[in-house]
Amino acid sequence: MIRKVRPHITQNEPLLFETSSPGKIGYQLPDLDVPAVDAAAALGRENVREEIEDFPEVSEVEAIRHFTRLSTYNYAIDLGLYPLGSCTMKYNPRVNEAVARIDGLSWIHPYQPESLSQGAMAIVGALEDALVEITGMDAVTLQPAAGAHGEFTGILLVRALHESRGGARKKVLIPDSAHGTNPATARMAGYQVANVPSNERGMIDIEALAKLCDEETAALMVTNPNTVGVFEENITKIAAILHAKGAMVYMDGANMNALVGIARPGDFGVDVMHLNLHKTFSTPHGGGGPGSGAVAVKSHLIPFLPSPRLARGEHGWTWNYDLPRTIGKVRAFYGNFGVLVRALAYIMAHGGPGLRNATMDALLNANYLRAKLEPYFEHPHQAPTMHECVFSDARQARRGVHTGDIAKRLIDYGFHPYTVSFPLIVAGAMMIEPTETEGKRELDLFVDAMISIAREVEEEPETVLKAPHSTRTNRVDEVGAARRPVVRWKPDKSAS
Ligand SMILES: *Cc1c(COP(=O)(O)O)cnc(C)c1O
Repeated sequence: MIRKVRPHITQNEPLLFETSSPGKIGYQLPDLDVPAVDAAAALGRENVREEIEDFPEVSEVEAIRHFTRLSTYNYAIDLGLYPLGSCTMKYNPRVNEAVARIDGLSWIHPYQPESLSQGAMAIVGALEDALVEITGMDAVTLQPAAGAHGEFTGILLVRALHESRGGARKKVLIPDSAHGTNPATARMAGYQVANVPSNERGMIDIEALAKLCDEETAALMVTNPNTVGVFEENITKIAAILHAKGAMVYMDGANMNALVGIARPGDFGVDVMHLNLHKTFSTPHGGGGPGSGAVAVKSHLIPFLPSPRLARGEHGWTWNYDLPRTIGKVRAFYGNFGVLVRALAYIMAHGGPGLRNATMDALLNANYLRAKLEPYFEHPHQAPTMHECVFSDARQARRGVHTGDIAKRLIDYGFHPYTVSFPLIVAGAMMIEPTETEGKRELDLFVDAMISIAREVEEEPETVLKAPHSTRTNRVDEVGAARRPVVRWKPDKSAS
């Protein structure tokens, strides 16, 4: 008989607090060789505390092992494909990190005088110029800290423009395929949201749009290519419909990695847009780290851009705060500078032709996956695929297996799941974005895994329904976690 043992390194690493043992220390300081000072007398009694309640007391090696074990529980883009759609989890070339860590850039302080910050300001200026060229717009602000923040900034600009023309207007039109941040942004900026339906090809229904668009419309927020991975073929007609009513076209540029070097929003009627530098220009994201939602505008919106604006003066770069019509500041200082450095490094390392190649490879990879997987999974929109493809679980659902089950099973095959159940207009959506950074070998491994799962669904659906089988925890109670979150740990005093 084979005796089962409980592994020493457990599947469920306890909290550091739970491994605490009173009096244990992780360091030892030498004896004091200067006269002792009474802390309370020196700092004031109210600033001194005897102990920190429930502070974990562990040895150095226990602390290190705890965090090292936790680090091995993660899936990462440096381990394998991360096919989340609408996210562009692309590999972050290490040259970006080397550049961002240059002492003069990583230690710079925002209160440093302009005369000592010229290099950093030149980086900001070069990135603004590059993004103006890439988008075909007239000016860029790098202040917003993420995509959603860029949207909010952009819609505030639209609002300011309309107010300057006599009234803010009432509503923002948003296609039903939009990312959830779009309606949230419109509401936060004080607008009502009107839904624009999509047609059977996954594109905006032009006739419905024309009916909805009136003199109370402030803007249309359109993602292009949209979240179904389809380019809005009628984008110039769409822009004309909006402009005829004095409304603006806002483009959610989170999917710009499908356009860079091929098409420019400024050339197809967009008035204002944001870019997710942390998606398109490679800064790693998804771990809650900083991002950048750069906003690009056409000239009529420039006067309202956030303060300050970078300017090239007689004696070099300066920050211009003299902006009477600005919407104000949207972020402390000048934005997430480290992300800006990485984005510029990425752009310059590629150069114009290189960026275009990256886009072409992103499209090629997505189309490769579509072609390979179409025989096994339903592809609801018969329109050309851009940088991502959206399947539905329609065939598998007949066997009782849904998109979330297939995603969980992918984990057993060593892949991060794709985006589950988004966009909402595709029932049982499976949204896959490979990005250009994946080679054919990795894509083929992913295809093999997906085909294998499709077979399992036919032959042994239980295997998929109970997945994952290879992980430290199986299926967690997601509803419970959302409804009854435990956000504060309290020691179980009775146990000790
Ligand atoms: C990611 C994304 C956003 C939001 O960007 P964040 O940086 O996560 O705030 C908005 N729209 C689309 C289409 C996106 O993919």
